[in-house]
Amino acid sequence: MSGYPATDHNPFRIAQKQINDCANILGLELSAREILLHPRREFHVTFPVHMDDGTVRLFKGYRVHYNDAKGPTKGGIRFHPEETIDTVRALAAWMTWKCSLLDLPLGGGKGGVICNPKELSLRELERISRAYIRAISPFIGPEKDVPAPDVYTNPQVMAWMADEYSSIVGTHQFGVITGKPLQLGGSPGRGDATARGGMYTLREAAREVGIDLKQATMVIQGFGNAGGYAASLAESMFGTKILAVCDSSGGVCCQKGICVFDLQQHKRQTSSVLYCHGTECLTNDELLAMDTDILVLAALENTVTEKNADKIKAKIIVELANGPTTPEADEILYDKGVHVIPDFLCNAGGVTVSYFEMVQNAYMYYWDEEEIHRKLDAKMTRAYREVLETSKKYNINMRKAAYVVAIERVVEAMKLRGWI
Ligand code: NAD
Repeated sequence: MSGYPATDHNPFRIAQKQINDCANILGLELSAREILLHPRREFHVTFPVHMDDGTVRLFKGYRVHYNDAKGPTKGGIRFHPEETIDTVRALAAWMTWKCSLLDLPLGGGKGGVICNPKELSLRELERISRAYIRAISPFIGPEKDVPAPDVYTNPQVMAWMADEYSSIVGTHQFGVITGKPLQLGGSPGRGDATARGGMYTLREAAREVGIDLKQATMVIQGFGNAGGYAASLAESMFGTKILAVCDSSGGVCCQKGICVFDLQQHKRQTSSVLYCHGTECLTNDELLAMDTDILVLAALENTVTEKNADKIKAKIIVELANGPTTPEADEILYDKGVHVIPDFLCNAGGVTVSYFEMVQNAYMYYWDEEEIHRKLDAKMTRAYREVLETSKKYNINMRKAAYVVAIERVVEAMKLRGWI
């Protein structure tokens, strides 16, 4: 098993390679490896949806329960035109390690629907959301599998889904899904939780690397939920200067620093960061190669590869996106001395506050935002330090160290349950 096949940028093969590398470090027996390398359950569903023009279209969706040794599975739902089962499998695997790394009593799952929300009306989006939940309703529930938002899904989509599931089971089951609006049992602090959690790990990483965040510069790829909040939090928490930002339409930069408030307003008005007042345009590749202290990756998978890793000048990479760096690029970055805060540590703030949301839903008692931030900071800081110590102990990069911490816990749970 040690000579694992090339990943050819398939996200699931990358996820499997990462598991295998970690299993080698830990010297795991074959039975444990086999379980860790494969999803426990996966569901492929198709469902018809009535479109606004009177036609009926058949959509395809997936839900994967990757590993539930530590508890009910947890993970977001993506709406994306290029969604594939291998992407969902990889994301579900990463959720397993993420929940374990943060020591949450949860397993990992993920879901997706092949559709393009940019081409759908609001009503079509609602019908797809509800139809997908009807299709997967036997496989989800507060004690079974709890979805959440991901790329191109949001609190409104979660609200429709919670409503649909509650109608199916005949009771108020808002705990079936997290990332809901506050009025439907959402948690305070969930909106910016992913980025905020990432900023807590960045604070610790900057201490380790010796960077003063007040004097530092940052560039950000992706300006949606994760990237947008990262920009405003880096500015407000640390006073870090944002030099450049890009989204799917292209990028903008300003050497004096971009005003995040203006950029957010511009994006709201035009749906793009391009041509924001006081900025110049740049390409995605130019952004990644910019002279900056911090690079935040907050878009999609496979952004940093063996082709561009060498061009990166940042000292710290903040991986808010899932799987933005290929294993080949990881080696190059490690050799260059770039401190990578790996995805399933860095972006674990979202699932951590989602877990707080599950706890609050179960108790029907809600904490205030300050308490959420305090609890989140404690969990993220602890996880970062555990990963850092493990990377020093085994002399391995931060991603491999995160795998070691997370997988050891999952293996222990599997042993205790008698699976191996
Ligand atoms: P989002 O849809 O709100 O934002 C995605 C952003 O990436 C958009 O600005 C989009 O324009 C941009 N983008 C898409 N393709 C691009 C490309 N080729 N080049 C440059 N930019 C591009 O999604 P999000 O919720 O912010 O998620 C972003 C990443 O963070 C994903 O990998 C997701 O899995 C991960 N993540 C999100 C959360 C969360 O709570 N939102 C939690 C954990 C991980």
